[in-house]
Formats: sequence, C-alpha cells, structure tokens
Amino acid sequence: MIRVVASGAAGRMGQAVCEAVEGADDMELVARADPALGVELTDALEGADVVVDFTTPETALDNVRAALGAGVHAVVGTTGFDLEQLRDAAESATAGANCLVAPNFAIGAVLLMEVAQRIAPHMPECEIVELHHDKKLDAPSGTAKRTAELIREAGGNVHEPIHSVRLPGLVAHQEVLFGGEAQTLSVRHDSIDRRSFMPGVLLAVRKVGSLPARFTVGLENLL
Ligand code: NAP
Repeated sequence: MIRVVASGAAGRMGQAVCEAVEGADDMELVARADPALGVELTDALEGADVVVDFTTPETALDNVRAALGAGVHAVVGTTGFDLEQLRDAAESATAGANCLVAPNFAIGAVLLMEVAQRIAPHMPECEIVELHHDKKLDAPSGTAKRTAELIREAGGNVHEPIHSVRLPGLVAHQEVLFGGEAQTLSVRHDSIDRRSFMPGVLLAVRKVGSLPARFTVGLENLL
C-alpha cells in the first residue's frame, strides 16, 4: 500500500484527491493536511510515502521542501509559483525523495500540448486562450504557460498576452488557435469536472518514487 498525505485536503482539488486515493486499492489516505482542518503538513508526514499538494502558490514550495526533507515523495499540482525554485529545492534535498510537478494532470490537456507541438513548425503563429473558474488565484494558468513554453521550443510564435478568462460556471479549459494563410486550426480541451485530473494524479502517486530524476515536470513523462 502507498501511504498518501493530501496537502490542501479541504480545497476543491484536495477533496477530489482524498476521494480518489480512498477509492484506489493500492493506496491508503493517511492524513488530510490543511489549515482549515487544523492539521499541519509537517505533523502529518511521519510514515507517509507520498504527499499530493494542491494548495496555494504561497505555500506549495514550503510544503514540498518539508516533504522532501522528511524523505517523502511529492506530487505537486499547485500552480502559480516559480518552478525553478522548486527544482532547486528538489535537487538539493538530501533524503532521497523525488518530486513530480504537473501543471495539468488531465490526459486530454497533456495530449493538447503534444498536438500543439506537432502543429507549431507548420503553422507557427498562434494565440492561447485559457478559461477557469473565478476562484483561481493565478493568471495565466500553469497549463497555459507550459503550453506556450512547449510551442516555442517546437518553433511556434505564441502571441502575447495569453488570454485569461475567469468566470463562475467554468472549471478548466484551454484553446490554442493557430493561423496560417487563408486557414486557422484550433485545438481545445475542457475539464468539466475535477475528476478529470484524478487518473493522472493516481498514476503520479504510483510512479513518483521510481522516477530516474529527483525533479520531473509534466505528466507526459509517466505515460
Ligand atoms: P482551493 O480550493 O483554494 O484549495 C487550496 C487549499 O489549500 C485550501 O483549502 C487552503 O486552505 C489549503 N492550504 C493553504 N495553505 C496550506 C498549507 N500550508 N498546507 C496545506 N494546505 C494549505 O484551490 P483549488 O481549486 O483546489 O486549487 C489548488 C491548486 O491546484 C491551485 O494552484 C490550482 O491552480 C491547482 N490546480 C492544478 C491542477 C493540475 O492538474 N495540476 C488542476 C486544478 C487545479 P485555506 O483556504 O485555509 O487557505
């Protein structure tokens, strides 16, 4: 059994993580850490194998440092903070634990990024529109920033700014629009429920401990 701590357990994503872990035959939810529940992450790490962090941009880095310092692997879904700082924290941790961070755990969003990279050399001019619920703290989304990075690496020209829409009723959506001579091509992904992220989260929990590097970005590395 993989012993899992949910960090941010009272949040929208955290609650979905708790439900998914409790429903997995090979996992045990050993703690729900969240200020709203009166449980500090640092008090919940003993005996754990993996922490899954869906918290806030202000606290995620400290949470990961605490987990890795205690030798507990970290699966990080929180967005809106500096990934290079996270990389430094993961690569300098000495207790032998790994960190996997994914700006999007939905398989459809990962495939959107792959398809966008395939299109970019042929139709380089493009714009990204990301749409999320109105409680989301960061803009543009981590997924949009990662998509832009991957498209640029593939030779595309992502126009600035990335467009961020925040409205009640939305969950997590993204469209990439490519324009060429007398034609356009759009790719779109919609997460219509937070359950869309859970197969990716569970896969990450199962695989984070056997990753070849201390720090890995992107669910695509596990597929
Ligand atoms: P949310 O509902 O605001 O949940 C965040 C939770 O974390 C809150 O309950 C918050 O408690 C708690 N928290 C704050 N500080 C903490 C700490 N030090 N230790 C433990 N818990 C702490 O937000 P959400 O909608 O679930 O989103 C969480 C993050 O996941 C965001 O960054 C979002 O962008 C990201 N996200 C990622 C993916 C992906 O696939 N990678 C998908 C969806 C969302 P308080 O309210 O008391 O502060």
